[in-house]
Amino acid sequence: MSEPIKFTEKTKRRVAGRAGFRCSFPSCDKPTIGPGARSNETAVTGKAAHIYSASPGGPRGQGTLSKDQLRSSENAIWLCSDHATYVDTNRGEKFPPNLLLSYKALQEAKIARHQSGINASAWFHELRLIESPIFAANARILFGKLTVIVGGNGSGKTALCEWMSGLGDPSRLRRWDHPRETDRRLHLQVTYFDPREQHARIEVAAPDSIMYYLEDKRVPFYPLKLGLVHLPQYLIRPASEDLRDELQLVSDVLRIPTTTVRNLIPCVNQNNEGCVRNLRLVGNEGKLMLLADHEGEKKARCFRETSDSQQGKVLIELCVAMARFSSEFLPTILMIEGGILSFDPKNFARYAEYFMSGGHHFQTIVMLIRSPTGGSKEWSGWEFVRLVGEKTNVTIDQSPF
Ligand SMILES: [Zn+2]
Repeated sequence: MSEPIKFTEKTKRRVAGRAGFRCSFPSCDKPTIGPGARSNETAVTGKAAHIYSASPGGPRGQGTLSKDQLRSSENAIWLCSDHATYVDTNRGEKFPPNLLLSYKALQEAKIARHQSGINASAWFHELRLIESPIFAANARILFGKLTVIVGGNGSGKTALCEWMSGLGDPSRLRRWDHPRETDRRLHLQVTYFDPREQHARIEVAAPDSIMYYLEDKRVPFYPLKLGLVHLPQYLIRPASEDLRDELQLVSDVLRIPTTTVRNLIPCVNQNNEGCVRNLRLVGNEGKLMLLADHEGEKKARCFRETSDSQQGKVLIELCVAMARFSSEFLPTILMIEGGILSFDPKNFARYAEYFMSGGHHFQTIVMLIRSPTGGSKEWSGWEFVRLVGEKTNVTIDQSPF
């Protein structure tokens, strides 16, 4: 038998510090540091718990992680001693690695906001489709820091985006609030941590009547302020068929004002981890072109001239800039729809790593037409959801890898 893998003191301190020395279990938030027995001592009561196990037979197993990965701070979550024991009961069955990674990301996002003096904090945990025109009854999706939803045409990807957006903005439910007699109605529940577990429900009760509930109490609208950044499906036509200039085109695709696109450009250029360099607007015969330097190309090219995948990168970078900024003030979700990332698995792996990184604090939902390949899925901690079937009886398959 090999020795169980231990975290070093330095790793423990780093994990504790990133959690603000508070328990990362969503309903707990207990401080884990305080005065010690003597006046010159502190007492630390928290634990750096293993996400994947310290020994091969332990709770949650070890996946395919190497020893170095198992003892790294990525594999640790800071918990009070009660919750450290609790998540390991019954071999950790109720707390798979992805769930613990989500708890950890939630805690770090919350501490980052508190540190900048903002108290808003929430994390989307589950969407339950109690009844809906598309999905089998009581279908549910669990969200991680990154949630990848794969489904073909007609499997309800766009509907899911509209329903999630409908939480903050009833106008996004326009397609759903006039059901015919024979249609199944929309009734969904979102569970989020605030950090306590909260439930919000939306029900289309009758035509043009959307009811909102918080913990079963009827409310006029959903009061939690939520930053929602959405890259919807889009189609870019060549300039010969479309007279808009590129600033207007991008603003229409993202459904944000041209001023906001202009203001976001410097934020994109500041993001050193991004895929796009030197984004700028240049006037040409009275129209504005959006130029960027792309990897592996010597000459900057304007938006319409570039490939689908390069256009996708520019749009994603603008959305990432929005989500980054928004998440400094509000719980923020970035939703990327339209399968842009399906084009290139390498591209997907790069963005997936970026969306999972602890350096920023928004949740990302990516809708893909095909399964992504490459990357160590077990380690990455993202949730993977498959939509199976089409039209009225789609089922949701979210088995762990
Ligand atoms: Zn606790």
